[in-house]
Amino acid sequence: MTKTQKDDRAAWAARAEALRPQGQALIGGRFVEAASGRSFAALSPIDGRVLTQVAAGDAEDADRAVKSARAAFESGVWAKRPPRARKRTLIRFAELIRAHREELALLETLDMGKPIAMSLAVDVRAAADAIQWSAEAIDKLYDEIAPTEPNVLALIRREPLGVVAAVTPWNFPMIMAAWKIGPALALGNSVILKPAEQSSLTAIRLGGLALEAGIPEGVFNVLPGFGHEAGKALGLHMDVDGAFFTGSTEVGRMFARYSADSNLKKIGLELGGKSPFVVLASSRHLDAAAQSVVDGIFFNQGEMCTASSRLIAEDSIREELMEKVLEKARAYKPGDPLDPETNLGTLVDAAHTRRVLDYIASGEAEGARLALGGGRPAGLSGECYVEPTIFDQARPEMKIAREEIFGPVLTVLAAKDPEEALRLANDSSYGLGAAVWSDDLTTAHRFAAGLRAGVVSVNAYDEDDMTTPFGGYKQSGWGRDKSLHAFEKYAELKTIWMRLR
Ligand code: NAP
Ligand code: MG
Repeated sequence: MTKTQKDDRAAWAARAEALRPQGQALIGGRFVEAASGRSFAALSPIDGRVLTQVAAGDAEDADRAVKSARAAFESGVWAKRPPRARKRTLIRFAELIRAHREELALLETLDMGKPIAMSLAVDVRAAADAIQWSAEAIDKLYDEIAPTEPNVLALIRREPLGVVAAVTPWNFPMIMAAWKIGPALALGNSVILKPAEQSSLTAIRLGGLALEAGIPEGVFNVLPGFGHEAGKALGLHMDVDGAFFTGSTEVGRMFARYSADSNLKKIGLELGGKSPFVVLASSRHLDAAAQSVVDGIFFNQGEMCTASSRLIAEDSIREELMEKVLEKARAYKPGDPLDPETNLGTLVDAAHTRRVLDYIASGEAEGARLALGGGRPAGLSGECYVEPTIFDQARPEMKIAREEIFGPVLTVLAAKDPEEALRLANDSSYGLGAAVWSDDLTTAHRFAAGLRAGVVSVNAYDEDDMTTPFGGYKQSGWGRDKSLHAFEKYAELKTIWMRLR
C-alpha cells in the first residue's frame, strides 16, 4: 500500500475498500484452507461488514501445523542456524512489519475497532520493536559454566523447547503475538500462532511477512480458528512442547488442565486484571494523576489487561481529584476508528459490547453513583460504541469493583488512609498492574513493596518498553513476557557434566 498525501478519514476509508485481506492458515510455508473446508466471517465492529472469510482450523489442522513445525525443528534449518543468522532474519521481519505499517494498522483497526492513530503509533510500532529487541538480544545471551571442582566441566546450556504454541487475545493482537513469537523464534523454536477469532487478520499477514523475511517454511505457522477447536487442540497436543497463552483467566485455567491432561507441556499464562490505581493525599500531582488514570482506563477502549480500572483515592483529596478526572475523561470521545482524530474506537464485537453494558447496569443496580457516561453514545451508527463511563462511590464488594469489565468503565473507591488504600488495592484475585501516587518517598516505597502485582508504577501508569518483564501475580498468571526473563519460558536448561579423565 502506498502512502497517501492526506491521512484523513476518507483516505483511510478508501484504503479499506481496496484492501483484500487474506484469511487462510499458514501451515508448512503454504497458505491453505482448513482441512474441513470450514471458514468463518471476519466481521468489522465498525459497521458489521464482512472483511473476509477466515479458515476455521480444528484438530486436524492443528496436527498438520504441529507436524510441519516439528519437521522444521528436527531438520535444524532454523534451530541450528547461528544466533546471529536468526537475528538478521528476524530484524528483516521487524523491518517488513514497519514497511507495511499502514496496511497492518488498517487491518487491526478494521478487525477489532481500535482508532487508526493508535494502531499506527502503538500496535505496529511496538510489535516491530518487540521482534527486533528479541532478535538483537539473541547473539548476546551466554550460557553458563558451573563453579565445579577442577576435573569437572559442567555446562549449563539453554536449548529451544521445540514446538511452541502461542494463543493470543484480540485487544493488542500484533503486540501480544510479538511478545511471544519474538523470543520463541529467536531461540530457535518452531512456532504455531493461534490468534483470537475476532482478530485473525494481522496474524495471518504477519505469517506472510515472516516468510518474505526468510523464516523457513514450517518454522512459523499461523492457525486461525475457534478457541475451543484450534486453541484446545494445540493445548492438548501430545507433540507441542510449550503452550503460551494470553487471555482471560477462565481460558487460562483450561490451559493448565490441557497440560495436565496431555503431555505436561510447559505453559505460560498472561491473564486478566483489575488493577488498582491509588492516589494518596501525599501526592502534589493530582492533575497528572487524573490524566494518568483516565488514560489508563480509556486507552484502547479499556480493553486492556492492565487497565487502571479501580481508582482508590484517599478521602481528603477525593473530591478535588474527581473533578479533574471527570474533566479529563471528557476529552475521550467515541468516534469512527478510521478517523485519525478519534481517541476511543469501538469495542471488539457486539457480544462484548453487551457484556460491558451489563456491567454498567449492574453498577447502577448495586447503587454506585454514575458520574459519567453509562451507555451507548448518541449520533454514531454501529452497535459497538460505549461511552467512557465512571462510577463514583462504589463499594469494594460490588461486581464493578471485583470483576474485569474489559471496557471503558472506571470504578472509584474511597480510602480513609494509606493503610486502607493498600488493603483495598490488594483485595483482588488478580495481581497484574498497580499504581501508587505519592510524593512521600518512604510511603511510595513501602506502598510499592506492599502491592501484590507484577507491574507496579509509582507516579506513572503502564509505561513500558521491552526492557522490563510483564506479567501477573495471583490469578493474573504464570511467567513473564518481555525482557530477557521472557526467554526462560521458551527454553529448556540442560546440564552437561563432563569428567576430565
Ligand atoms: P479469551 O477469550 O481468553 O481468548 C484468548 C485466546 O484463547 C483466543 O485466541 C481464544 O480463541 C482462545 N480460546 C478461547 N477459548 C479457548 C479454549 N477453550 N481452549 C483454547 N483456547 C481458547 O480472551 P480474549 O477475550 O481474547 O481477551 C481478553 C482477555 O485477555 C482479558 O481477560 C484480558 O485481561 C486478557 N489479556 C491479558 C494480557 C496479559 O498480558 N496479562 C494481555 C492482553 C489481554 P477464540 O477467540 O477463537 O475463542
Ligand atoms: Mg473482527
